[in-house]
Amino acid sequence: MFSLDDLFYSSVEQKRRNAHRIFREMGPGTALLPEIKEKLADLVTLANVLKQQMASMTMFSLCAACGQKKNGGCCSAYMANETDAVLLLINLLLGVDVRKQRDDSFECCYLGDRGCILMVKPMFCLNYNCQQILTANPSQVILELEKAASAVLRKQYELEQVLLAEMGINR
Ligand code: SF4
Ligand code: SF4
Repeated sequence: MFSLDDLFYSSVEQKRRNAHRIFREMGPGTALLPEIKEKLADLVTLANVLKQQMASMTMFSLCAACGQKKNGGCCSAYMANETDAVLLLINLLLGVDVRKQRDDSFECCYLGDRGCILMVKPMFCLNYNCQQILTANPSQVILELEKAASAVLRKQYELEQVLLAEMGINR
C-alpha cells in the first residue's frame, strides 16, 4: 500500500520507481477498465488539441531554439520535482516508456533529445508561459492556449482521482 507521501512527495527517482511498481502490480489491463479507458482516451484527445495549439504558435521551434542557447530552456532539473507517481503512472498506461533521459544536475531527467518525453506533463509545466511566448502572441491566442491547457489538467485530475480510488487511497 502506498501513501500520499510515496506518490507525491518522495524524490524524483522514488516517484518513478513507485509508478513502475504500481503499474506492474495493477497490470497493463488497468488501461482497459471502462472508466479509465474512457478518461485516457479523452486525455489523449485533449493533449492533442493542446499540442496543435502550441504548434500553431510555433512554440516547439521557439523552445527548441531557446533550449540550445547557453542557459536557455526552462526544463531544469529542479522542475523534475513537479512530476508525481500518479502522473507517471498515467504516462505508463498511455504506453510512454517512462525512463530517465539524462543524469545531470542541470536539466529535467525527462527532457529527451526531441523535448519532453511525457505525454501527460506536470501542471506547472503546462501552465508556464515565459515572457518570450507571451510577447510573441496576442492575448486572445494566449487565452486559447490557457483554455486548452486547463482542459487537459481538468481531465488529468479526474483520471488521477479514479486511479487513487483504484489504489484504495483517499486524497
Ligand atoms: S517556454 Fe520559454 S523559456 Fe521555456 S524553452 Fe520555451 S521559449 Fe524557452
Ligand atoms: S516539460 Fe517535461 S521535460 Fe520539461 S520540466 Fe516538465 S516534465 Fe521535465
